[in-house]
Amino acid sequence: MLKDKFNEVENQIAYKKISNEKSSNAGKVLALLFFGFCYYVWIRTTGLCIPCIFRLITGLKCPGCGITTMIMRLSLLNFRGAFIANPFLFITAPFLALELIYAYVKKEKSENLPRWNTILLYLYLALLLIFGIVRNIINI
Ligand SMILES: [Zn+2]
Repeated sequence: MLKDKFNEVENQIAYKKISNEKSSNAGKVLALLFFGFCYYVWIRTTGLCIPCIFRLITGLKCPGCGITTMIMRLSLLNFRGAFIANPFLFITAPFLALELIYAYVKKEKSENLPRWNTILLYLYLALLLIFGIVRNIINI
């Protein structure tokens, strides 16, 4: 009898822990989206944005250079301009969006990413680094 009550309380505590973790994950995503929206409005109103530290120091473009310009142009449905800002990220943006959703769902289920997905992410990272080198050679 007492043991059943103890197990019931223990299960309730475990359930609350899981539901708190899930709500904090959703809260983090919402906070990130809100921050991104505020940054977007800031750039739209002031024209000021955070410069790339790598480019400031080296004078070279990093693989992510142009992502802010790409997003700003996408918001105006200027797809050609968005492509020019960062061709690699423009082309792979749908993959990144799907990967973020997939990783979020896996985390919500408390599951690890499968091996094929980890390999795919390393391949993506390698291609991104190659793009970072090539874009400085052919000036894109
Ligand atoms: Zn950069």
